[in-house]
Amino acid sequence: MPEKKQFRAIKGTRDILPPDSSLWNWFEQTAREVFESYNFRDIRPPIFEETELFARSIGVETDVVGKEMYSFVASDLDQLVAWRGYISNIREIRVPDALDVFQSALSYLAVQVLQGVRAGYLPDDEPNRAIQVKLNSLGAKVSEIYVDWKRSDKFGRKQELDELVSEAATTAASIRVGDEITLRPEATASVCRSYIEHGMHTLPGNVKLYYIGPMFRRERPQKGRYRQFYQIGAEVLGQSDAPAIDAEVLEMLLVFFRRVGLTRTTLYVNSIGDKECRPQYVELLREELRKVKDELGADSQRRIETNPLRVLDSKLPQEQAIIEKLPRISDHLCDACREHFATLKYELKLRNISYEENWRLVRGLDYYTRTTFEVTAEGLGSQNAVCGGGRYDGLVELLGGPPTKGIGFAIGSDRAILSIQEGGEARALPGLSVYVAWMGAASYPAAVAIARKLREAGLSVELPPEEMKFKKSLGLADKLGARYALILGEDEVASNKFTLKRLADAEQNKLSEYELLEYLESERRG
Ligand code: ATP
Ligand code: MG
Repeated sequence: MPEKKQFRAIKGTRDILPPDSSLWNWFEQTAREVFESYNFRDIRPPIFEETELFARSIGVETDVVGKEMYSFVASDLDQLVAWRGYISNIREIRVPDALDVFQSALSYLAVQVLQGVRAGYLPDDEPNRAIQVKLNSLGAKVSEIYVDWKRSDKFGRKQELDELVSEAATTAASIRVGDEITLRPEATASVCRSYIEHGMHTLPGNVKLYYIGPMFRRERPQKGRYRQFYQIGAEVLGQSDAPAIDAEVLEMLLVFFRRVGLTRTTLYVNSIGDKECRPQYVELLREELRKVKDELGADSQRRIETNPLRVLDSKLPQEQAIIEKLPRISDHLCDACREHFATLKYELKLRNISYEENWRLVRGLDYYTRTTFEVTAEGLGSQNAVCGGGRYDGLVELLGGPPTKGIGFAIGSDRAILSIQEGGEARALPGLSVYVAWMGAASYPAAVAIARKLREAGLSVELPPEEMKFKKSLGLADKLGARYALILGEDEVASNKFTLKRLADAEQNKLSEYELLEYLESERRG
């Protein structure tokens, strides 16, 4: 018999399994509680958006947009896209038999356009009707030439054919397939898109939102770096860019980290200026970098022209000494930015938040202005950033919305949870409370009834679906890590009492239903 294929999770993705998943739920639930105490509310944007949304907001020159996005066209047009690609790439036809295939491809593409229009994936407009007519008439001419060739066995009308081929390529390429879509690599762009789409700028006060969910980036998988990973993020959007907002966002972040036991962390802050002062600084940086170009690695050399700020992010050992001598943005901020940064630092002090200034912290996404920050944690090796964020005044406008200020962060849950686990501070989460060890058909109805009552009281209860010998049943209760076994046999049914056995020390008590519920509930409340 042929061996069956074994399926595995795709490279860079993984299953989060029990008991880790309990830790994840608790981590996310704690974020909800902390964020809501700061009056942030949950937003759930879709997981895919138009590619253009990410390209425009994150920036075409960034790693994320340049090489990490999972993009595709709406799958309903797969066939059409394939044929369009095939036809638009043919340059020349040399053998008569290829003409036959070419003619079929043309008529097939015409049918795909027709179907796409009928199904509503392509606009039912004049250009699309013209494309169908054109493809069909090109097909007819091709088939004429084919018949001619076959009959005369002569390779004539070559120039005419070349023209047809090139016309077909242009026509195929002109089919607009509609939106290209991308699995979100981050969620700030989506939140801003949603803010604009729903006119949230008319809401009173600042709009404070948080999200929890998966993100997708095509990166080289390694410890703390996945292709599907999870973020918890928060955003404040509105008219004010008061540094107190930045400081409160950071306070909230650190309160959350403390609540989940992520304490061995360092907060780095920086200001990267705004559109008044950054362009001049970038130009200055570029000039200085050009002078040392030959000493830089290939990535940095390229970035001198495309995105010089990103050179500061470099981790290459041989570049470190050079970077240290480069001009620093802190010496080139305009008055407004300098004051904003100074006030932020005052606001952080007011809140007893310790931080380190890091002038090289520029962040990978284009939309940041002024405040940028990052939190690193221990126990993670080189992938040690657990949160990144900053101000993005102007992003909403860039996406076609009204002038709006914004600031936010995204926590990488995978890394944060890893650091909590490695630090040994992960608290034990409540697992299985009660295992109902029933035996004998007579006790089964009582077992079903009490299991339901205990569950309604909020306890985690395991009720074996089939009868087992007591010894085996208690053994399983132990293996499952239950705190109690509730024993229900003939004696218990006759006396209308339950035997509750604490598995840690084997202490045993006979209790009425009322006493049992009282006892377990008070135990659950701690
Ligand atoms: P890095 O420099 O590590 O690639 P980044 O600057 O690309 O991080 P951001 O876009 O700021 O990351 O995202 C915020 C956080 O999301 C990061 O600090 C990190 O914890 C997490 N993160 C980013 N990419 C991944 C990934 N591929 N796998 C796991 N976590 C990730
Ligand atoms: Mg990255």
